[in-house]
Amino acid sequence: MATIFTKIINGEIPCYKIAEDDDFIAFLDINPNAKGHTLCVPKKEVDKIFDLEDELYLKLMIFSKKIAKALEKAISCNRVGVAVVGLEVPHVHVHLIPINRMEEMTFNEKVKFTDNEFNKIAEQIRKFLLD
Ligand code: 5GP
Repeated sequence: MATIFTKIINGEIPCYKIAEDDDFIAFLDINPNAKGHTLCVPKKEVDKIFDLEDELYLKLMIFSKKIAKALEKAISCNRVGVAVVGLEVPHVHVHLIPINRMEEMTFNEKVKFTDNEFNKIAEQIRKFLLD
C-alpha cells in the first residue's frame, strides 16, 4: 500500500509544498515541532534512510541542505535541526526544524497553525529558494 507521503507526491493528498524536483519533494510537517518544520522526502518509496542507494542518499542530503538554507533565512531561529525518525511514516524523510531551544527537537512539543498560516509560512520559505 502506498504511504501517505507517496499519496502527497502523487497529488492525492494536499500539502504545503516548499520545493520539488525529479527525485524529491519538500513540504511543511502537518504537526510541526516549530514554525517552518519541513520534511524532505525522496519520491522513491523506501522505508529506512540507510537503505537508500548511495547516490540517492547523497542527493537527499544536498536537497535538504538547499531547503535548510532557505529556512534559515525565512524563519527566525538559532539554527536548523536535522532529524530522521520514520516511526510514524515508513517512507524516508528528513525533518528540518528551525530551532531556538533543545525542546523543539524532542517531538513532544508541538505548535499549531491555521491553514492560512501554513500557506503564509510556505510562501515565506519559497521566496528564499529563488535567491
Ligand atoms: P516520523 O515517521 O519521522 O516519526 O514522523 C512522521 C512525520 O510526518 C510527523 O512529524 C508527522 O507530523 C508528519 N506527517 C504525518 N502525516 C502527514 C501528512 O499527511 N502530511 C504532512 N505534511 N505531514 C505528515
